[in-house]
Amino acid sequence: MKRRNVLKGLSLLPFAGGALGSVLPSSAAVAATTVKRDLFAELGLRTFINAAGNYTSMTASLMPDEVMEAINSTAKEYVMLEEVQDKVGEKIAAICHAEAAFVTAGCWSALVLGMAGVLTGMDQKKVAQLPKLEGTGMKSEVIIQKSHINGYDHALTNTGVTIVTVETMEEAIAAINDKTAMLWFLNREAPMGKIQHREWLELAKQHKLPTMIDMAADVPPVENLWKYNDMGFDLVCISGGKAICGPQSAGILMGKKDLIAAARLSAPPKGGNIGRGMKVNKEEIIGMYVALDSYVKRDHTKEWKMWEDRIAYIKNTLANIAGVTTEVTIPAVANHNPSLIISWNPAIVKITRDAMGEKLRKGSPSIETIAWETENSIRITVFMLKPGQEVVVAKRIKEELLQAAV
Ligand SMILES: *Cc1c(COP(=O)(O)O)cnc(C)c1O
Repeated sequence: MKRRNVLKGLSLLPFAGGALGSVLPSSAAVAATTVKRDLFAELGLRTFINAAGNYTSMTASLMPDEVMEAINSTAKEYVMLEEVQDKVGEKIAAICHAEAAFVTAGCWSALVLGMAGVLTGMDQKKVAQLPKLEGTGMKSEVIIQKSHINGYDHALTNTGVTIVTVETMEEAIAAINDKTAMLWFLNREAPMGKIQHREWLELAKQHKLPTMIDMAADVPPVENLWKYNDMGFDLVCISGGKAICGPQSAGILMGKKDLIAAARLSAPPKGGNIGRGMKVNKEEIIGMYVALDSYVKRDHTKEWKMWEDRIAYIKNTLANIAGVTTEVTIPAVANHNPSLIISWNPAIVKITRDAMGEKLRKGSPSIETIAWETENSIRITVFMLKPGQEVVVAKRIKEELLQAAV
């Protein structure tokens, strides 16, 4: 009897699952092979110590065990995707003081879908019309401070809107017209702008316009998760895979109930809209919730102290190397954590920053750092290191600096 016929026959039996079991490797066999299988080696991929930071190109952050457990344990049953978003959304909204929330495919998707919701409201016809705005009755302009323009606003223009830039409050007032859809704020650039959060919100309120804030990489501090909802922004967008250590391809859109409901009309599993490609699976949606919950509950003071200790260890290891200076800096808003800038006098330590980066990358173990502002400096962060890796990073940088000084 041919194998195909055997299967056909078996599928008629009451225990059809048994027939499937005979063609698929048993879960025990899969487990045994996955334990031994080193996919990085098999694929010829370089792994490295991440002393650079939270970079999408470097796969951002590592998910903690509880997030991986959430992902693995939820992969074994079916549920309705919309119900997952409803339930997880309620939990996230409660944690972050928002009326509603859902998990998006990164902060970028949150920006696109939130913008779409502002434009369409609950009108299905409009949802299908995006990114075409002309002749649809939808508004078409978003006002942004000039200093807040940095490429992320492209997420907004995906929906068809045009960006109107302003610098002063007078310019902002003059820019508002009946085509104005929203006022947007990039938290990271707040210190560079002439108009601050509360004035921006006040302006929006006076003109009955919705507001959105992009705070993608802006925890720590943990309080930022609710600060901008409390302050009154209608929509708040954040990355899931940066310091929160959720799935790299997840993010959160949270805010006012009506706008979140409208945004979801452009999001999967619904189709025929601009967001259908921005899918997040149930495992990642739930993984995002667990990551957020775990992030909020961790001891942030202790974590900060741990980062400072790592920085101090590296700084001390590099102290007293001729021609080398180090400086601890903490970015004020985004990626707010202690980092170390390591600079050298090129007359003594004869290596460029790019060559230094390459030496560390090609060394064993491989280490990624960031080329800094001058030709003779690199920058490192320690918040993405695994415990103990600061010792390796310090040792390798010291070796290369001494080597270059010979
Ligand atoms: C990282 C980042 C984004 C994009 O976030 P993803 O989660 O990678 O989609 C948007 N805005 C800012 C300011 C960011 O730093």
